Amino acid sequence: MAKWLCTCGTVLRLSGLIPNPTEWLLVADTVFDEFHGRATADDVYAAAQHALRCPSCDRLYVFWSGLAQPPTVYARETEPVTEVDRTMHPPRAPVSD
Ligand SMILES: [Zn+2]
Repeated sequence: MAKWLCTCGTVLRLSGLIPNPTEWLLVADTVFDEFHGRATADDVYAAAQHALRCPSCDRLYVFWSGLAQPPTVYARETEPVTEVDRTMHPPRAPVSD
């Protein structure tokens, strides 16, 4: 049974309940687009990166290199994110101040 102790003290588990309420599946938009009209849930699951989201502090433990490798941990920003001009999507060249 794989489990991790989050920095906040919460125990996160990759096994146990199915579906796992703390596990998320990440699929790149480019990969997802290739599945259009022909993918099964198993196809999407196989292409997904697994992540655990701590229910206490929202840290994300993303297994970018598979479940046999240690995850990369992402913590919530403490400062609010400034909204970016939506007309910049797709991104343009950086604008100087
Ligand atoms: Zn936590």
